[in-house]
Amino acid sequence: MYLLVCNAGSTSLKFKLFEMPSEHVMAEAKVERIGRKDNGIFTYKTPAGGYYHTEKTDIPTYTEGIKMFLDCMLSADSELGVLDDIRKISRVGFKTVLAPGYGVAVIDEAVEEKMQEFLDVAPAHNGPYLEAVRHFRALLPDAVLVGVFETAFHETIPAERTLYAVPYEWLEKYGFRRMGYHGASHSYVAETLTELFGSTGRTISCHLGGSCSLCAIEDGKSVDTTFGLSLQNGICHANRCGDIDAYVFPFLKNRGFTDEEILYGLEKQGGLLGISGVSNDMRELREAEKEGNERAGLAIRHFINGIVKYIGAFYAELGGLDNLVFTAGIGENDSSVRQEVCRQVAHLGIKMAEQPDELGKGLLQLSAPDSKVRVLVIPANEELGVARKTFRCRVD
Ligand code: ADP
Repeated sequence: MYLLVCNAGSTSLKFKLFEMPSEHVMAEAKVERIGRKDNGIFTYKTPAGGYYHTEKTDIPTYTEGIKMFLDCMLSADSELGVLDDIRKISRVGFKTVLAPGYGVAVIDEAVEEKMQEFLDVAPAHNGPYLEAVRHFRALLPDAVLVGVFETAFHETIPAERTLYAVPYEWLEKYGFRRMGYHGASHSYVAETLTELFGSTGRTISCHLGGSCSLCAIEDGKSVDTTFGLSLQNGICHANRCGDIDAYVFPFLKNRGFTDEEILYGLEKQGGLLGISGVSNDMRELREAEKEGNERAGLAIRHFINGIVKYIGAFYAELGGLDNLVFTAGIGENDSSVRQEVCRQVAHLGIKMAEQPDELGKGLLQLSAPDSKVRVLVIPANEELGVARKTFRCRVD
């Protein structure tokens, strides 16, 4: 069976075409900086060595990104093309974000409606997914579309950590609480640790990408996370503000802002972009910092401080720490962020190695053998987790 996985991040779109059940990857692509005029990046690869890359290109919408991937996958060029007919794809798995009540589910009208209903809670994600789902439904009317929702992994967090201290009737009536996201990524970290070392023990998983979250994991289960009801919470993101006092909202309203302007600022113009005024992308912030841009440096220091603070909080909740894991775009690629975080929390029992130890498949052990806490880089492979769950999903 050919199974396509679609992973829409807040700033990127990733695809992997799998042959199941062998889990053989036939083609993969990454579309970055969607909506950033003339600044998009597109990369396509096949295991047979097919490669196409373009940058500084205009990728205005997610639909345009999907089209670029399909053009490569169906290309007549034998180096790139891996399928002659798109209808051979019988399932598409989406790393969907929020539709309360759904974990892994065939995306039918009811699921779409629920995603639409919670668009106000996850606008940077439910929107792109609804766009992608509708596009694939039109392209592949016979395929089964499956949503693997990001909140499912966090169902194990105890109630005292997920509730908000608001009038209890509000929680009962509207069913809101801290949901937690990035479940596909943090659960993949937990599975990988279990495969490598037999258990997760007490782990803090740091997913640092366009969206960022930390997750406290104990014996394979999520026991706390930085995200709240929405994906706005926790540490600073690429464009989103992270933790903020709710009273900023009336404060700005009283000074003439509309609801839309405030939400636009919190969601699109905050985060690394908001502080730096330069970019939402760590690579560009590093460049700007080198050129002496002070706000770029401030944005990076604020970002690191958020990670350090939550590591401290989760260390306290876990009662110690066995593994500290970095994953996703920044976590995997920016060694300075990792080193600075580890330097600041070294007192928790971290001793870094002179040279990282390569454990295969991109995994790195950064800590010294006698470090109390193991520090690792585990490359995100959320797509494989989504592929497995999509393949196993029962279709009635
Ligand atoms: P998303 O949350 O959109 O899925 P990713 O996990 O792909 O994002 O991470 C994208 C982010 O990773 C970029 O916005 C950028 O800040 C960061 N990034 C990617 N490559 C590098 C790199 N080589 N060095 C530093 N940061 C990087």
